[in-house]
Amino acid sequence: MTAFEMPDGRLHVGGVWEAGTGAEIVSTFPADGSENRRLRGASRADGERAIARALKAQADPAWRGMKAHDRARLLHRIADGIEANLDRIAFIQTRDTGKTLRETTALAASAAGTFRYTAAALETLDDALTVPRGDYLTMSVHEPLGLVAAITPWNSPIASDAQKVAPALAAGNAVLLKPASWSPLVALELARIAQAAGLPAGLLSVLPGAGREIGNLLVEHPAVGKVSFTGGTATGRTLARQAAEKLMPVSLELGGKSPTIVFEDADIDLTIAGILYGVFSSTGQSCIAGTRLFVQRSIHDRFVARLVAATRTLKVGDPFDPATQVAPMVHVDHRDGVAAMVDAARAEGAEVLCGGAVPEGLGQGAYFLPTILAGLPNTATICREEVFGPVLCVLPFEDEADVIAQANDNAYGLACGIWTRDFPRAWRVARAITTGTVWINTYKQFSIATPFGGEKDAGIGREKGREGIRAYMAQKSIYLDLTGRPMPWARWP
Ligand code: NAD
Repeated sequence: MTAFEMPDGRLHVGGVWEAGTGAEIVSTFPADGSENRRLRGASRADGERAIARALKAQADPAWRGMKAHDRARLLHRIADGIEANLDRIAFIQTRDTGKTLRETTALAASAAGTFRYTAAALETLDDALTVPRGDYLTMSVHEPLGLVAAITPWNSPIASDAQKVAPALAAGNAVLLKPASWSPLVALELARIAQAAGLPAGLLSVLPGAGREIGNLLVEHPAVGKVSFTGGTATGRTLARQAAEKLMPVSLELGGKSPTIVFEDADIDLTIAGILYGVFSSTGQSCIAGTRLFVQRSIHDRFVARLVAATRTLKVGDPFDPATQVAPMVHVDHRDGVAAMVDAARAEGAEVLCGGAVPEGLGQGAYFLPTILAGLPNTATICREEVFGPVLCVLPFEDEADVIAQANDNAYGLACGIWTRDFPRAWRVARAITTGTVWINTYKQFSIATPFGGEKDAGIGREKGREGIRAYMAQKSIYLDLTGRPMPWARWP
């Protein structure tokens, strides 16, 4: 494996590389706690400078008036840059987040794919002539919003950054990207690539820093016309309140507590492979992780025993080892929070079928064993609240009606998995479940062409898909007179 230099820690402030003047951020490698880079995050003053430069860059007619096919070419060049730097991006992200190199390589490739898909969608988006009710031409056109703040979490940075930056730029905006403090580095690499691809200075800023400082500034600043947020539900609620004050559109991709449903006719081994991947890949640090497993009572004990045996075979270890399936969590503080939630579940009466502890022999790394808990009802705290770690709760169910009721009895509504050979039943259940995404006999599969988002506490709005660019535009109606005659009401001249 090739080791790459980490970004030097300067921020990208409206197109200028500058040392931050905000609070210190220390990026560490979660597998052993070693330091990647120490940097100063963005202060409010840094943010103000970025906003001023972004306003100027966005107002430039060369950018506002750039034809869609030319902007698409720019997005393709950014995709080229990501692909040319795939190994570097993956390395930086693995050091920054502890994710396996296999996963970060796939995330980087998906980020390039996002830029390419967005470029293609941009070139083929039409504005509409609407039906007139008089002698005029009516058009519905779309304009950039201006400045967009993109606020992202630490769990899949390059992919979630691209999911916001690509459509926001495609729509003709300037973007102020704020990555999470635990993963500040890979977004800075994206800025370097975009700059090298020829993105005009000021159109993309990367401002890692504290949510309460730089994040707040971006949300509250009058010049920012939209916030696109991915992160926790509590933070999302705060942002939505602030956005309401400004009457600003906001899109929120939030948390989850996704049900996976196994009917008695499911193919057992296919299902077990899907469940393992659905909940334990990314060490469970995934908004869509299938963390509540409902198994039909007739097969429950047999199925769960086999699942536990399979879980014990998962390889926990070094994220750079290609054999590793379960890497460390992002930070020891987060790991300790997950361990505390498992302890609380134990105290509430959970039976720990496997895991539930820090593995031995892996030193100071932020590791936690894949964990399966049983014996608690769907209403128990650990079954209600997002853990964001490798923790699965198993629950029995009786029939279709029972499992639909239990699966929907949760504040979140992000995703759902259904495992059955009975396709009419799969269809009925998929339509009855209140989540943004349903996977049938598969899990955690994504296509940039398919809209993604949550219901209930899992969020507002959708990303991806052809409509993804429109979410960063303002719609305008234009009426153009075709008669050249004065308006009769005026009786003039
Ligand atoms: P978080 O809410 O703590 O932070 C997310 C981002 O918001 C970070 O950049 C953070 O610095 C910033 N932030 C925090 N407070 C802020 C404030 N007051 N104003 C502005 N910005 C602020 O979430 P996290 O711990 O980084 O990420 C984990 C969460 O993200 C989980 O709940 C997970 O489910 C969710 N998530 C959702 C999706 C999705 O698509 N639905 C995808 C990935 C992660």
